[in-house]
Amino acid sequence: MNKKFYKTKLTNSERVIRAIRNLESLDNQIMMGSPSSVKKELDDAIKLISHLNDELILSEKFHKNSLLESKIREIEKSKDKKIADRGLINLLFGSQLNFDNENNRIKELRDQLEDVRFFKLKEDYYDFRKNNIENTKKISKYTYLLKKSLDAAVERESSRKNSMEIKRSEQVRREAERLAEEERIKALAAAHIGKSRQRAATIKNGLLEQLDLLSYCPYCGNDIGDTPHADHIYPVSRGGLSTADNMIYVCRKCNSKKSDKTLIEFIHSTDNLDFKFIMNNLKKLKKRM
Ligand SMILES: [Zn+2]
Repeated sequence: MNKKFYKTKLTNSERVIRAIRNLESLDNQIMMGSPSSVKKELDDAIKLISHLNDELILSEKFHKNSLLESKIREIEKSKDKKIADRGLINLLFGSQLNFDNENNRIKELRDQLEDVRFFKLKEDYYDFRKNNIENTKKISKYTYLLKKSLDAAVERESSRKNSMEIKRSEQVRREAERLAEEERIKALAAAHIGKSRQRAATIKNGLLEQLDLLSYCPYCGNDIGDTPHADHIYPVSRGGLSTADNMIYVCRKCNSKKSDKTLIEFIHSTDNLDFKFIMNNLKKLKKRM
């Protein structure tokens, strides 16, 4: 029996069992792993299959050799034994004797022994071959699972990248929308300011017409001056609007005295003002009273 043969067989089995256990324990981990970690496991499994196949080829060659070697050893031993036996008998009996029967019996036993050994070797060899093929199948199955989990990991990775891409483009879109809204508000504000200015200019023009109807201050009756002041008859602070019928040109003095008083408050607070005179002027100018 060849010890080397068994040693190789055991080492192989142990290695395969260990590898499969590792793969099994790593299975869950791999299923959630990154593409690179799954790829590494897959490479290892493929290497292991290739290694097992190499072992199988080597073991077949080795087995044939060991069978031949053992046969040759048996023949040589048998020959030596026969020579030794014959020598001993010659020494004891000192005569030429016929040992054909014994020789035949020994030969027969040796043949049987050789048959047993051959049979045992053959059985071991087929066991080993069967194990090796089964293990290769198991590893192949894991390789298949690993390939699937690698695909899944790659898919996960790419969908993660896609969702990040979508998120990013969503951010870009929102930023563009925000800028557009800002532009729109700016445009609205610009239009509003433009309109307000236009309206102010219209009112100013309307007020200038006042000077054609009245050459003096409609409040105090004095000279309106070179720089008449626009006054809100009903003050802005009380809700008065910048409309033509609520605005009037007065002298600088009256404007500063009236400040945010109503017309009645202004008349009451000032001694030299004539209520009827003012009302008459407002009527002439078609102003709100
Ligand atoms: Zn005045």
